[in-house]
Amino acid sequence: MSEQNEEKVEQEEKVEQEEIGRYEKLASRTADLLEEGKKTFDEALKKAKEELSSAGDFSREQADKLGEYVRRDLKENADKAKDAVMKAVEPQRLAAGVQSAFSRILTSAAETLTELAERSEKVLEYKTGEITSPGTLTCKDCEAEMHMTKTTRIPPCPKCHKTLFRKSY
Ligand SMILES: [Zn+2]
Repeated sequence: MSEQNEEKVEQEEKVEQEEIGRYEKLASRTADLLEEGKKTFDEALKKAKEELSSAGDFSREQADKLGEYVRRDLKENADKAKDAVMKAVEPQRLAAGVQSAFSRILTSAAETLTELAERSEKVLEYKTGEITSPGTLTCKDCEAEMHMTKTTRIPPCPKCHKTLFRKSY
């Protein structure tokens, strides 16, 4: 690899790490706001977006985009947490890292887990380039699986290079 290419790759990795950091900051700030008072999830997410974009951490567009990723991943987690509760397992035990922000949201939101999960009925689609929390992404085209252990930007399918996935845990 030439030096120039190395520099380009390093730059891309830096941008990606920054975006992942912002996603995690937004999820965790939303959890803080929910713990402070009885807001709904939507109110807390909106306030977290406003705070972080007015502090200059995010642009308005970034906040909106990352907010949608957080919302989607949380809905997936609400489904999972509901299953966990049904099996009498504590939602707090779900997983580490950003998952703990989701656990805090799920235990503090004024809505019940059922209400959050009900809003996630439609089949969610994940695309290459989006940021998402840990889990397994399955290629909609060739069924190849990618196992993500931390918050990540979704790469193309390693097998067929297509860009649409569904997610499970
Ligand atoms: Zn594939």
